[in-house]
Amino acid sequence: MTQIYNFSAGPAVLPKEVLLQAQAEMPDWHGSGMSVMEMSHRGKEFMSIAAGAEADLRELMGIPANYKVLFLQGGASMQFSMIPMNLLRGKNKADYLNTGEWSKKAIQEAQKYCKVNVVASSADRNFSYAPMQDQWQLDPEAAYVHHTSNETIGGVEMFWTPQTGDVPLVADMSSHILSRPVDVSKFGLIYAGAQKNIGPAGLTIVIVRKDLIGETLPGTPTMLDYKIHADNDSMYNTPPTYGMYIAGLVFKLLKAKGGLAAMEKINIRKANLLYDYFDATDFYSCPTARENRSRMNIPFTLKNPALDDEFLKQAQSRGLLQLKGHRSVGGMRASIYNAMPEEGVATLVAFLKEFEKNNT
Ligand code: PMP
Repeated sequence: MTQIYNFSAGPAVLPKEVLLQAQAEMPDWHGSGMSVMEMSHRGKEFMSIAAGAEADLRELMGIPANYKVLFLQGGASMQFSMIPMNLLRGKNKADYLNTGEWSKKAIQEAQKYCKVNVVASSADRNFSYAPMQDQWQLDPEAAYVHHTSNETIGGVEMFWTPQTGDVPLVADMSSHILSRPVDVSKFGLIYAGAQKNIGPAGLTIVIVRKDLIGETLPGTPTMLDYKIHADNDSMYNTPPTYGMYIAGLVFKLLKAKGGLAAMEKINIRKANLLYDYFDATDFYSCPTARENRSRMNIPFTLKNPALDDEFLKQAQSRGLLQLKGHRSVGGMRASIYNAMPEEGVATLVAFLKEFEKNNT
């Protein structure tokens, strides 16, 4: 097989070790005679897989006992609705930080259920940064404060945790969960679609403080009630079993590699390979504010956009795939999640240099 490096923002690269293990276990999981895909979600084999995945995630992220971990479906986008439906708890307003495309989607959905107060926005500089908290207008009466801690499209990552006092803090961590340690106890709710740093699409992880659940908006569908999923250990209906199995393998691998602190060191190294190069050249530029440069999603542009198509064509022919920027912003984007090997980033940097040399 030719060596390719997949820089897609998601669904994204998965660890080779995990794919090979899944391949080996595909027809017969641990002598059960069955594929994980064929197992009853209530049978003892799958129950052990689910329990193992949850325990390993709890250990990796240091999730306190007063938080529930939910394995859901519907993508991070479904959380845009579930969050107001479950967390308004009798209030009619919520605070949202607007740092880009995913924040905007979360805001639009929440506006169907409550009055949204946008605490601050980075629209003034084309969503290239995250406003610091001294520029936020927090409402002490808000039911919760929502932010997108890594904007996948703009490549804007927040390296600090907002202080919201008694108002629960909610984070969309879809595109940087597990890339570094976070203090879960600072959050009311953390959510992430799996298809970037966790596993296959179809699984969504929600980590929620137990005291926040149980009071939904009237008319909330059963399937959108966190309490129903919490009380049934994510087995109210059939959960995304195969996705949970793969996520479990990813969690085990991250533990074996030294956990999230070890991942953070590697992720800093990988991201710096790219950013250092962009800082040293005029041929490419990186639009994101220095203090918010994402370690996972790195947008960049060519000074001469007439070369974009040629750049992508040559990159593709070298096995450097999915470097085209999001359709809403154009340019390029390299997503370098945990599973992107350091050689992949080094190969990309070598290609960037060569393309520059051949075109100046
Ligand atoms: N939030 C963020 C930060 C994302 O990057 C994405 C997907 N790219 C979403 C939400 C939406 O996720 P999903 O496709 O799982 O609904």
